[in-house]
Amino acid sequence: MSNLCEIFGSNVFNDAVMKQRLPEGVYKTLKKTIEEKLPLDISVADSVAAAMRDWAIEKGATHYTHWFQPLTGVTAEKYDSFISIPSKGKVIMEFSGKELVKGEPDASSFPSGGIRDTSQARGYTAWDCTSPAFVKNGQLCIPTAFCSYTGEALDTKIPLLKSTQVLSDEAIRVLRALGNTTSKCVTTNVGPEQEYFLVDKKYYDQRKDLIYTGRTLFGAQPPKGQELEDHYFGVIKERVEAFMAEVNDELWKLGISAKTQHNEVAPGQHEIATIFSEGNNANDSNQLVMEILKKVALRHGLVCLLHEKPFAGINGSGKHNNWSMGTDDGVNLLNPGDKPHENKQFLIFMAAVISAVDKYADILRLVASNPGNDHRLGANEAPPAIISIFLGEQLENVVEQLEKGKATNSKTASILDTGVKVLPKLKKDATDRNRTSPFAFTGNKFEFRMVASSASIAIPNAVLNTAVADELSIIADRLEKASDVEAEVDILLTELIKAHKKVIFNGNGYTDEWVAEAEKRGLPNIKTLVEASKALIAEKNVKLMAKHGVLSEREMHARYEITLENYTKTINIEALTTSEMAKRQILPAVLNFAAKVAGSINAIKATGVPADLSVQRDILKEVSSLAADLKANVDALDKATESAAAVTDAYDQAHAYRFDVFEKMNSVREVADKLEGIVDKEFWPFPTYGDLLFTV
Ligand code: ADP
Ligand code: MG
Repeated sequence: MSNLCEIFGSNVFNDAVMKQRLPEGVYKTLKKTIEEKLPLDISVADSVAAAMRDWAIEKGATHYTHWFQPLTGVTAEKYDSFISIPSKGKVIMEFSGKELVKGEPDASSFPSGGIRDTSQARGYTAWDCTSPAFVKNGQLCIPTAFCSYTGEALDTKIPLLKSTQVLSDEAIRVLRALGNTTSKCVTTNVGPEQEYFLVDKKYYDQRKDLIYTGRTLFGAQPPKGQELEDHYFGVIKERVEAFMAEVNDELWKLGISAKTQHNEVAPGQHEIATIFSEGNNANDSNQLVMEILKKVALRHGLVCLLHEKPFAGINGSGKHNNWSMGTDDGVNLLNPGDKPHENKQFLIFMAAVISAVDKYADILRLVASNPGNDHRLGANEAPPAIISIFLGEQLENVVEQLEKGKATNSKTASILDTGVKVLPKLKKDATDRNRTSPFAFTGNKFEFRMVASSASIAIPNAVLNTAVADELSIIADRLEKASDVEAEVDILLTELIKAHKKVIFNGNGYTDEWVAEAEKRGLPNIKTLVEASKALIAEKNVKLMAKHGVLSEREMHARYEITLENYTKTINIEALTTSEMAKRQILPAVLNFAAKVAGSINAIKATGVPADLSVQRDILKEVSSLAADLKANVDALDKATESAAAVTDAYDQAHAYRFDVFEKMNSVREVADKLEGIVDKEFWPFPTYGDLLFTV
């Protein structure tokens, strides 16, 4: 066990290292840029680069990379060594300011959604000094943003950084109008909770579906699933504990505050949460969390699955995006305090979030979507695909008062008495939790609970920030013009609540009644990613993102294309894998088994003993008939895949993959899973759910 305080941040070029190693003037300039989000003074680059290089070399680094986040959703890195040959036979270690500030990776093989032609290969990476550089695997990693030759964003970081800037500007306008003269900027604070599964590598290696698609495409239900709920918060097994300890060590060294870990609901499922930090940092850290979970698992003979739905019939994984806004002088703008009805500043910011989520529900649903999350949203284990906000009893009561006029009181938190004398009396929270809500207020933050476990949190946050910024700008316009700001605040609160209270729902989001009620309220219920993708080109959303300069119309359109293309490619890979496994693994196994049964019938007959052969005959009949069904379903799947692949329009193609290919994959699986329940385990060509879920 390491000494946490000693190792924390030891591989990060953080504030303490900068203070120690940079000339005083350079340090001060850079710190001001980072803290107040001022334009970068490029003259500091050479001396920062030199200090970074010396520090990284001392840590054993030989290479550096511009670390960036293209639209593949994962990080990208291309390493250059520090080597330089100034004269023959002489080698020095060099890293200039120019190399720190700008990189030029070939962009041609990254998704651009039509922003550039294949021939236009140039792309640039630009140093993001607000996210600290770090050493990982003997390489100096410099967080950067990635754009095309024309300056358009080809990554997830640029829109995120822009959105935080916009949110800060608009929030400061509101604060100024409310009389705050001291705060300089507002940041969003984000704390992601990451769920994942662990499986034994020896079983993983035998499953083509896990290898190619990250999820199981076949698998009959084992006798035990998650029904006993004995895994949730259960004692962590030693092997998993050793893995978690090493993950924590690696994260702490990178200055990532791994805090909470526990077993999750499904067997084999776990969660890790880091302490919240500024949104851009939280996003970078979460990318590293995902990378390190995967890397460390391998060292323990395990594989970490980040897919949203690796197994049918048990819960999948999500990522809860805890989100709040705070000023640079330490005020959480979403902290209601003891008497929320009197806290006008809180109420205004809360109303801005409610309005934003109601107006932009469709695009919030989309940014939480990926092919994997389509198995979860609305499937009674994750939040429904309908976006609604849970406020809790206390705030719902305040909101009801606001709707009618002024709010004059807040329900107070009571004391919880267990009735056991020796136990302490506990102060209750003002609200209970609601685990069915996609967007829940949890005391002093909102928890966006739909986000996909394997995906970057950058775009969900970028859209949320921009939507809230837009509401704040509308509020600021009103307050700046008002002669009596206090009266205007009251009028605005009532207006906003009246207009948007339809998105507030405190009940059970998993019920059919809610689906019907939501429809009555006019809330969108978009069932699939393919249908949800339209939100990226809907006029109101394009206008929102373009108005604030976060994503242009072209960039939004590009992301629409990429979303559809990625969906199509993902389902295509799943379909091909399904077909291959069915034809080359399952069918041959089934036929071998049938031959064995047939052989046994013949062998018994040959003995001349008048034995009862009905069991063998029944099994043979059933297996043969299911094998025929399987073959027919695979043929139908192959045909559907072929015709979907030939569709030229991106939307129609993704639609065909969802409503034709995907359905046919399910039909193949259905028959195969039935066969798994009959065929001798010795013949079954790959490990079962029981092997995968209960052996770690
Ligand atoms: P839960 O009980 O919901 O599972 P966890 O402890 O797993 O909660 O995670 C809660 C997350 O919310 C952590 O990342 C925590 O740092 C973060 N968080 C706490 N307060 C705030 C806040 N004000 N703003 C944003 N995130 C916060
Ligand atoms: Mg948690």
